[in-house]
Amino acid sequence: MAASPLGGEVKPTLYVENGLPAVTSGTVDLDARGRRTALLFTGGVDSFHALLTRGARPDLLVFVHGYDVALDDRRRAESVTALVDEVAGETGTRALVLRTNLREHALLRATDWEQVHGGGLAAVGHLLSASIARLVVASSFSRRYHVPWGSHFRIDHLWSSRAVRIEHFGEHANRTQKIVAIAHEPLVQRHLRVCWENRTPTGNCGACPKCTVTMAALAQIGMLEAVQTLRPARPLAELLAQDGLERFRQPLRELVALDPGSAVGRAAAERLRVMARRPSANRVRRLVDDVAVRWHAHRR
Ligand SMILES: [Zn+2]
Repeated sequence: MAASPLGGEVKPTLYVENGLPAVTSGTVDLDARGRRTALLFTGGVDSFHALLTRGARPDLLVFVHGYDVALDDRRRAESVTALVDEVAGETGTRALVLRTNLREHALLRATDWEQVHGGGLAAVGHLLSASIARLVVASSFSRRYHVPWGSHFRIDHLWSSRAVRIEHFGEHANRTQKIVAIAHEPLVQRHLRVCWENRTPTGNCGACPKCTVTMAALAQIGMLEAVQTLRPARPLAELLAQDGLERFRQPLRELVALDPGSAVGRAAAERLRVMARRPSANRVRRLVDDVAVRWHAHRR
């Protein structure tokens, strides 16, 4: 591994087993011990919002290859690495890419990553504890409309230690408010990356539910053309009629509120009406939990 231009270097490891390749990273300046702030950065709405609204004020942008991008998906990882490098170069921060096989651990494979990934994010902070004092995790949901999720404003700070504070950032804003706040930024317009369905080798697919709600929100504020990384694969009204938008009910409500009378607003409202006729997965889960609680109470 090359030495850091600033002198120090660190070679962190998050779980290695059975001869799998060592899990390594780039280099971090160890001289600034304990004073740096790292932001977990993917190029998405949440992490761009944390970076550009100045609330988080990071020194380091950290991308973890092996979490949302599979460890063997080198092409996509290279694309995200280039994105993080470029954004770091333009924001006066430094880029750090970690590679980890943590998700291949038997315990992690037996769990739902969406529900437990907060511990994996916090582990990055502790891994870098020789170099940083704060790790900022951008919120996925707002304080007002949160759902059970592995990273949460009520939980993330509990992963802190005396060496590293884990901070959840951005839960005061909903996803649409974040999009409105960052859409005018040229950096966002060149690099925004929201797609995790991996339907295309790199970049955004322009068709999946997450791409769809993001493009619809941008269209509602007249900024879709400006964002070069997102192009609808089909007309937005058609994309908004697809299945799979159930988990995006709240962003759909938010983008309807932006302009209920537009074609996108009407299509999103219609989608919400269709979904309202079906129970959501969360509602079914709550009903099952409720029955289980009553059953246990009855048996006592
Ligand atoms: Zn997509």
